[in-house]
Amino acid sequence: MRIKIGLKCEECGRINYYTTKRKDQRSKLQMRKFCPHCKKHTVHKEVKV
Ligand SMILES: [Zn+2]
Repeated sequence: MRIKIGLKCEECGRINYYTTKRKDQRSKLQMRKFCPHCKKHTVHKEVKV
């Protein structure tokens, strides 16, 4: 079973991406992605949606 999560930019706090992860995956996702608001690659962290 997979759950839906958002990926939030750490710099501006906006959720720019949505993805899914396995429900039994305990660790928080964190990845560098392009933020259209900051206009650069920033760290995006998992948030609940
Ligand atoms: Zn941003």
